[in-house]
Amino acid sequence: MENHLYICEYCSKKYLPRRRHKQRFCSNSCRVNAHNRKRKLLLLSKNKGLNKPSDHQTKNGITWGGIGNAAIANVATEVGKSIFIKEENKPATKGDIQNLANKIGERYILIKNMDARADGAPAYFDTTLKEIVHLKFLPTWK
Ligand SMILES: [Zn+2]
Repeated sequence: MENHLYICEYCSKKYLPRRRHKQRFCSNSCRVNAHNRKRKLLLLSKNKGLNKPSDHQTKNGITWGGIGNAAIANVATEVGKSIFIKEENKPATKGDIQNLANKIGERYILIKNMDARADGAPAYFDTTLKEIVHLKFLPTWK
């Protein structure tokens, strides 16, 4: 007796398939939902354009809102290939710039046991120059 369970590609539930090898979803509603989701994702990636990331997009340019975690792995294999290949060629996203800004922010470390300069500029250790610097204002492009 064959009792190997399939895993629904939409809800990730285990189920006993009625048609082996052909069935990918546990139910008709999952099949329809998966179809709609795929269509919606394709529309989203076409309308928004992968080169125009918004606040709602991840660094991979996909809007995950409303998509269950269980589904993400499936989506990644469905539409992921084309998106991940484009990753290198995309302009820097907000996330990339934020990462860079964070790194710049870490360049200067406030030295607590050193007095500020006469004009009030606190002492920082510049991790890039490996020197103590006095800065009135830290770069604030965060
Ligand atoms: Zn299902």
